[in-house]
Amino acid sequence: MNTGYWKSILDSISSIWTGMRLTFRHIGTATKSVSKDGVASDNYFARSEGLMSLQYPHETLPVPDNGRYRLHNEIDDCIVCDKCAKVCPVDCIEIDAIKDKEVYGTTSDGTPKRIHAARFDIDMGKCCFCGLCTTVCPTECLTMTKAYDFSEYDVIEHIYSFANMSDEEIAEKRKQAEIPSGGASPAGTPGKTAGKPMMKPRPSMPKPNINTGKKDD
Ligand code: SF4
Ligand code: SF4
Repeated sequence: MNTGYWKSILDSISSIWTGMRLTFRHIGTATKSVSKDGVASDNYFARSEGLMSLQYPHETLPVPDNGRYRLHNEIDDCIVCDKCAKVCPVDCIEIDAIKDKEVYGTTSDGTPKRIHAARFDIDMGKCCFCGLCTTVCPTECLTMTKAYDFSEYDVIEHIYSFANMSDEEIAEKRKQAEIPSGGASPAGTPGKTAGKPMMKPRPSMPKPNINTGKKDD
């Protein structure tokens, strides 16, 4: 038997001993839960005691305020200017705009509203979370929420609809604007948003709850 054989055995025993020493050094604190400091905290990377994992989803860490997660459009403050759809590098915002003949309301910051959103969909399955759409939004109605866990079994569920017009209202506004149903709107962007087919027919979607990250039934 050569010396390499015995050296391997000694190395193995040494490695096991080192591992066991580390285990016994920390086993006393392993019953304590880790601090709930988020990654924005100065203590986040200084933690060396206690359980390092969380009982997710029952326990969660706070996410940074400037993180980029699921988008939300406060549709009552949206002036349907189409800037977000134009700037989006992956074309995941779909808007169907209907121009009104006059100003029909104002947003919470006082911006006049002249265009209705018959459809305002964001496909979060395509979104690359660049944040450009929130940057160009003139009324700041398009924002990143803190909802980061919105996995779905069906990719179609990642399309979030924010328009709140009924079919009757859409038909009425189209008639007033003298736009044939399903036709291009003067306020839309032909070739980019208006009339652009989706990847497959979309069932009516429940609106997402921006606090829980789940869709209401
Ligand atoms: S974050 Fe970027 S990719 Fe996602 S919708 Fe906005 S512009 Fe498009
Ligand atoms: S940029 Fe803002 S105001 Fe304009 S359509 Fe998009 S969400 Fe609405």
